[in-house]
Amino acid sequence: MDKKFLKIREDFPILKQKVNNERLAYLDNAATSQKPQAVLDAIMNFYQNDNANVHRSVYTLGQRATEEYENARIKVQKFINAKDAHEIIFTKGTTDSLNLLASTYGEENIQKGDEIVISYMEHHSNLIPWQQLALEKGAILKYIELTADGQLDLADMQNKITDKTKIVALTHASNVLGVTNDIKKMAKIAHAHNAVMVVDGAQAVPHMPVDVQDLNADFYAFSGHKMLGPTGIGVLYGKKQLLEKMSPYQYGGEMIDFVKKYHSTWTEIPWKFEAGTQNIADAIGLGKAIDYLTDLGMEQVAQIEHELVDYALPKLLEVPGLTVYGPKKSNKHNGVISFNLANIHPHDVATAFDMDGVSVRAGHHCAQPLMEYLGVSATVRASFYFYNTKEDVDQLLRAIFETKEFFKV
Ligand code: PMP
Repeated sequence: MDKKFLKIREDFPILKQKVNNERLAYLDNAATSQKPQAVLDAIMNFYQNDNANVHRSVYTLGQRATEEYENARIKVQKFINAKDAHEIIFTKGTTDSLNLLASTYGEENIQKGDEIVISYMEHHSNLIPWQQLALEKGAILKYIELTADGQLDLADMQNKITDKTKIVALTHASNVLGVTNDIKKMAKIAHAHNAVMVVDGAQAVPHMPVDVQDLNADFYAFSGHKMLGPTGIGVLYGKKQLLEKMSPYQYGGEMIDFVKKYHSTWTEIPWKFEAGTQNIADAIGLGKAIDYLTDLGMEQVAQIEHELVDYALPKLLEVPGLTVYGPKKSNKHNGVISFNLANIHPHDVATAFDMDGVSVRAGHHCAQPLMEYLGVSATVRASFYFYNTKEDVDQLLRAIFETKEFFKV
């Protein structure tokens, strides 16, 4: 194995173990990523040395904790090239970010007859909040169609977005189809109709350089745990002028300016949206994950994953009885590969793979309308990160052939 990979894999203690007496090939990175030692250490270090509540302490530990928490915000800001750290709200994750948005911006700006445009490839997190908002307000929810190879149909998008459209909410990268969307182009179309562009970046920020200013996204959501960080921490980026006009999501400590007996006023962004004691240690862990990714370089991360797809996809496409969903050309496909193996149920496939040490996801991947659109109930999904190797791909292929033999397909 290339020395570079040996060094990378050394950083991830969990990858050293055996599963069912086999080398672990962890290929469920779209669900969650593994954590390097540096992130684990950062979290432990915070609790061992600096633990205190943030923003309201004058003593040393409290000041240290505040500094580390706010530093993590600046790391996020730089990582996605937001103009201002005040535009970075810490949340629990992508789901929380999108719910925050639907409950605040959505509540205030959507009226009866308005349109919200999403697509058939959305994760439930970027679907149900808009679906429920539309139901509550009497608004119209529209779905952009997909092309035969699973890309967003731009012609259909042009038709679906009209002057009645107030919100366009699209995923940057699909968690099922391996497709990356041209958000910059899509934001242009949305803005031409005065709609705001909301982006679900859960599968993009961990895997490629993302520049929210260049994309001209109005809101952009992602999760820490898919990018080497801990669970329970995520981000909502929003343009300052939009966030400033929005009402708080939740009420309580930390988010106030003055509280009187019968009315209250709110502090400035982003703290206006961070009610109560926040997930301080995990924000710091996310900051450390960003340091790790920055040191490696996001271009390099994307390049490694691209090489893996280039190696894996043609081999998968040659397996008799295996159907790949999404683009069949590796230059159009990112590191998420969904497939079915003849008529074997995806859960049986994933269970069989586990016997060979291969961890993959099977199910509807929180995208039931997409499954219906594809005409399947579930798929198997292998998803790569930069610490995966060709050895992992070879192990996956071996597991596929063994499973075929076992099920006689
Ligand atoms: N959107 C996409 C595209 C995802 O892949 C996921 C995670 N599976 C989410 C949203 C939700 O992320 P979280 O569960 O971290 O809130």
